[in-house]
Amino acid sequence: MGIKDTGCLNHVPYGYGVLRSYNGKCHYYRDNQHIRHNFKMKEFNPKRIHPYGVMEKLVDDLQKMRYLLGVPIIVTSGYRRESNPHGAGLAADITVPRKSFIQVAEAAYHAGFRRIEVMKRYGTSYGNLMSVGGHVHLDVYDGSGNTTWGTEYDCPSCDRIPCYPWYAWGIQNSWSATSHPNTFNQLLHNLKTNAHDTGYRGC
Ligand SMILES: [Zn+2]
Repeated sequence: MGIKDTGCLNHVPYGYGVLRSYNGKCHYYRDNQHIRHNFKMKEFNPKRIHPYGVMEKLVDDLQKMRYLLGVPIIVTSGYRRESNPHGAGLAADITVPRKSFIQVAEAAYHAGFRRIEVMKRYGTSYGNLMSVGGHVHLDVYDGSGNTTWGTEYDCPSCDRIPCYPWYAWGIQNSWSATSHPNTFNQLLHNLKTNAHDTGYRGC
């Protein structure tokens, strides 16, 4: 997995998920339980994987976003069994059908996210409402290595979780090309000019 399992996820009863708090403690919540005002535990597990978990900071920042936007945020992909931020409970792919990609990216930044990837579909604009399809990937990786699995990544370079901060945009699934926005303002500029290339900030 690339992630050292120090035990947190090994003791999750069926029908429960793990919320891993800032101090590293694991809290078990029933799938249907609200873990924040607008989010239930199971919303971070759309693929219904067992066991699963989510980092508290991800939930907190999404709740801040939810207050800023004033409309529902749908997590389309949360926990996954992968060696990447999703597999560490650090990431969510979201859609906000009643807001544009640009509005969602801005709300994410203001809520505190510093790793943001905006993915639209061919034939659409970042100014469109997200109901046209596509997603925004958000994660709270901060270099500390804290995950739902335990305490640290065991990958020496963490090459699948390349850097912090990280701003990317693209079309369909091809995001790893051309230009290099270094700041959120550069990302925003690319979104507002509806740049047709794709790009990300390398480490
Ligand atoms: Zn993602």
